Amino acid sequence: MQLILLGPPGAGKGTQAKMLTERFGIPQIATGDILRGAVQAGTDLGRQAKAFMDAGALVPDEVVIGIVKERLQEDDCRNGFILDGFPRTVAQADALQGTLMTLGRQLDRVISLTVDADELVERLTGRRTCRQCGRGFHVKFDQPRVADQCDVCGGELYQRNDDREDTIRKRLGVYDQQTSPLIEYYQRGGLLTELNGMQPISAVQEQVLVALQAG
Ligand code: ADP
Ligand code: ADP
Ligand code: ZN
Repeated sequence: MQLILLGPPGAGKGTQAKMLTERFGIPQIATGDILRGAVQAGTDLGRQAKAFMDAGALVPDEVVIGIVKERLQEDDCRNGFILDGFPRTVAQADALQGTLMTLGRQLDRVISLTVDADELVERLTGRRTCRQCGRGFHVKFDQPRVADQCDVCGGELYQRNDDREDTIRKRLGVYDQQTSPLIEYYQRGGLLTELNGMQPISAVQEQVLVALQAG
């Protein structure tokens, strides 16, 4: 299964993707996680990406397109993948089509999660992220069993650099301008399912599964 999760920062893409990887045994490919890993490791890629990320801007298309192209050819993507946070521009979506074509693959579905701006700000300011596995928690909506500790891997939870209110507002603006055109892009291709992301995590999950005809 080849799936894209689309939606503004805080819509719940990562939360849903993590649940789907377990259910379907296919990897989550989150460009944000990959980029944060590179920043932490201090690689060339990380040095290139950091300033854009801290400013709430997009990392240049060529850079992310290169990452995804390579990642999709790895062995664990044989049975499918869940793209989370990619594509974010029309240029990225076009490049993805090209890559999939050369791999002889096709997208099965694009699920767009819709959430109001005020709710997004509340979700992102309260988000806590696992340093080790990238899982997201929330101080109110999805609390870890032990404070500041990841339920899955025991890693330390931290607040992302870009999850502060001024940067969040910028990222929401970037989504509206550069990413939201993809809704129509995939609608035209007949691939889009729009879901109301303003429901409890488990309810959103059920509707995602229905959209994938696996519910
Ligand atoms: P969120 O989950 O809050 O939407 P991500 O973790 O997906 O955020 O992305 C964090 C940051 O990483 C983005 O603000 C951007 O700087 C960079 N980034 C992630 N994915 C992409 C992409 N596909 N294109 C360009 N920049 C990206
Ligand atoms: P994205 O990957 O789209 O940026 P996340 O999955 O990281 O979004 O979710 C953002 C924050 O909102 C996290 O703190 C997460 O725990 C929380 N969250 C996710 N889905 C829901 C939901 N349906 N209701 C309430 N909070 C949610
Ligand atoms: Zn963890």
